Amino acid sequence: MVMLNQTNLGYPHKLRRLYWPFLALAEDCRRIIGTVAGAFESEGKRYTIPRFVFLGPDKGAPPLRVGFFALVHGDEPAGALALQYLLTELSDHPELAVGYELVVYPLCNPTGYEDSTRHNRAGRDLNREFWSDSTHPEVRIMEEELCTQHFDGVVALHADDTSDGLYGYSQGRLLNEQLLWPALRASASVLPLNEQQVIDGFAGHEGVICDCYRGILAPPPHLQPRPFEIIFETPARVSLAQQAEATCCALRSLLADYRGFIAYAQNL
Ligand SMILES: [Zn+2]
Repeated sequence: MVMLNQTNLGYPHKLRRLYWPFLALAEDCRRIIGTVAGAFESEGKRYTIPRFVFLGPDKGAPPLRVGFFALVHGDEPAGALALQYLLTELSDHPELAVGYELVVYPLCNPTGYEDSTRHNRAGRDLNREFWSDSTHPEVRIMEEELCTQHFDGVVALHADDTSDGLYGYSQGRLLNEQLLWPALRASASVLPLNEQQVIDGFAGHEGVICDCYRGILAPPPHLQPRPFEIIFETPARVSLAQQAEATCCALRSLLADYRGFIAYAQNL
């Protein structure tokens, strides 16, 4: 594996500022390993999609692997900050992630982030391109990760500038009640939920939407058993720190509840 900090030299300043706290965490904490999911070129410049793995304390069973994906839309940096908060907290309190391997992708759309645009530099919304033979390198790299990382769960972090509150979507073998609702309730201590009946064009109930767009970052369509999938949306117009804090609360809740759910299911 290529260490991230060996390939990162000469990076545009803005991207380096985003990476730097993650690299510092990986340097300080032996449980955090910084690597690269993939690299591509755009307009003669090389871009990498970084991957940080947090190895939680061993529980004597194969670890639960959960992938966290931020900045698929380049103008939604709160998710990356939330992952930075999460790793910072876990480096001090690794017991919060007993039995887990967390695979963290803070920057899925580096050109979009550099340009402060939702789309990548080629003008595409990457979150409509998955599993449709997309030629965009970011999508190909992330699809390869979704195929090979053996995730038990996939969590995508987004921010919505049309929403005044938090909301989420979940699909898969776990029900909304078991993961998403408790996570939303946990984060509602920081920011309000979106209580609208229609959220982002979909029917909503207590901050949970019942459908989502096609082509979003998600596990491969025919993968069995299917990992759980959660999308967590923060209101983009409030401060980044508040969005990140709310997301971090949700992710802590998710880790605790999913572990409990698996233990319960194994005892059935
Ligand atoms: Zn988004």
